[in-house]
Amino acid sequence: MAHVIVIGSGFGGSIAAKRLTEAGHTVAILELGEDMRDPAKLEQSQDTKYILRLFRDYPVDYLQAKPKVVVTQGMGFGGGSLVYSGIHLRAPSSAFSGWPSGYTRANLDHYYGRVEQRLGVAPLPDASSYPRSQAFAAGASAAGLPAPVANPVAMTGCTKCGWCIPICKWGKKNTMQHTYLQDALNTGRLSVWTNRKAKYIAKYGTKYRVVYWKTDSAVDNYHMVNSGSLYYQEADWVVVACGAIETPALLERSRYDSLPSGYTRIASFDMSNVGNGIDGTGDFIQGGFVPQQMDGFKGAVMMNHIDMGDYVLEDIGAIPVGPAVKLESSFQGISKTWGLAYKQKFKDYGRHMLAVGVMGKQGNGTLGNIQAWDDDGNAAVSNTAYQPPTGSLEAARSIITAQGGEIADTPWERSGTAATVHPVGGCKMGSSSSYAVQSTDLQVRNNPGLFVIDGSVLPGSPFRNPSHTIAAVAERAMDVILGVHPYWYWPS
Ligand SMILES: Cc1cc2nc3c(=O)[nH]c(=O)nc-3n(C[C@H](O)[C@H](O)[C@H](O)COP(=O)(O)OP(=O)(O)OC[C@H]3O[C@@H](n4cnc5c(N)ncnc54)[C@H](O)[C@@H]3O)c2cc1C
Ligand code: SF4
Repeated sequence: MAHVIVIGSGFGGSIAAKRLTEAGHTVAILELGEDMRDPAKLEQSQDTKYILRLFRDYPVDYLQAKPKVVVTQGMGFGGGSLVYSGIHLRAPSSAFSGWPSGYTRANLDHYYGRVEQRLGVAPLPDASSYPRSQAFAAGASAAGLPAPVANPVAMTGCTKCGWCIPICKWGKKNTMQHTYLQDALNTGRLSVWTNRKAKYIAKYGTKYRVVYWKTDSAVDNYHMVNSGSLYYQEADWVVVACGAIETPALLERSRYDSLPSGYTRIASFDMSNVGNGIDGTGDFIQGGFVPQQMDGFKGAVMMNHIDMGDYVLEDIGAIPVGPAVKLESSFQGISKTWGLAYKQKFKDYGRHMLAVGVMGKQGNGTLGNIQAWDDDGNAAVSNTAYQPPTGSLEAARSIITAQGGEIADTPWERSGTAATVHPVGGCKMGSSSSYAVQSTDLQVRNNPGLFVIDGSVLPGSPFRNPSHTIAAVAERAMDVILGVHPYWYWPS
């Protein structure tokens, strides 16, 4: 039985850890973020001292830098699942156009079902009873859009208090920490190494060595640690599961960093697709004030979605969306984003603001996909926004205006600035050798036993919040790696 190091503990890493340990392998997880399993650590708080221990921002100083794109991801034992909103939507068939052969909605349904079962995914109960949901539905109806339906979520006994973003303090969100990682721990074959950031992967004799920094001397922003003593762990196999932004940077360091004597560089592969073509999956948030009081802060983060084919529209709770919409938003007749008139405009922010999120297919006339690379030990992202799904912003805004509301122009309208928590790609799988990762088993070409299993391997946006598709692709890859199914078998 192999000893395996899994780097990163989000959706891809957790599924790899569970499946490998249950198959009898011993696994060590290296995770740059904190271990948040102690309930005493959890807070219902937006205090930045707490938030920056859970979130990775690229660029980290975006308020100062005012970039064209801001990417935010989770970190900690459980990765993005700790902070996500628990929404699990299957990608529509059309999303798989251009994916490697075999990756279809029909073929992936088996794996979506498996993930839903383990995470207890079910439609959010009573979602439609909230005034925010009713305002969302009324606006959709007035605008002639399809009716919203309750989001399928990985939550059990959720009280819809809306504080999912800084981890559910009440344990109602079925995160990877509570499910897949717990299953792996139950085997007795998983060891957990949090506050460790992998610097590079190299060969040492017949083994892989993962060389890392400890991040526990930092107080937050653990992903920015790039100095200090170096340590290593050794394994037969390595699974890279650092997500769409950090995986390309780690592979780049592994190919190009200088190595101590006795170490050998991992074998060469085509890097031309590594770090390129990252898709933000939409994530354009529109907001505005509706006439009726609907207390948008009440209810879970995103309770309903409207299926628009190439994209979905989702109602968003006012508290988490506040900074995104408020920051630099503008109104007709108020030219400045500060001052008394602006302040008065926001007087009814919590009661009347309806925010609508757009997740989906990148629009035509793309300005440029996001790129990620290594910048002296840290991942960096390009200053390139991308287009919203065609027609999506108009549809989102019509939900507000069709019921007599007033639109707030967001940073996208004002300065073409996009923000996403849903990046995918960066290390796309493919069937030709120009892709670093094989589409069969997600192994890195020319490097037996080195795999990439996370959102970076997705060849494109799944037109929906992406975790469900990342997880389904990971489950399939583990079937192939563990020999449960032959290379190209797809269960019906
Ligand atoms: C606020 C928020 C809400 C979201 N809500 C939803 C939702 O409701 N539904 C949905 O589908 N998606 C949602 N997402 C997106 C979702 O979280 C991501 O798509 C998903 O987590 C990506 O999974 P992954 O396995 O690729 O990587 P991640 O979950 O990001 O895991 C990667 C892990 O690797 C660690 N890591 C990175 N580099 C290193 C390194 N060098 N060494 C060691 N460890 C490393 C990171 O700390 C992280 O824990 C949300 C995201 C955010 C931020
Ligand atoms: S809405 Fe509240 S109870 Fe429900 S999962 Fe989120 S934080 Fe937990």
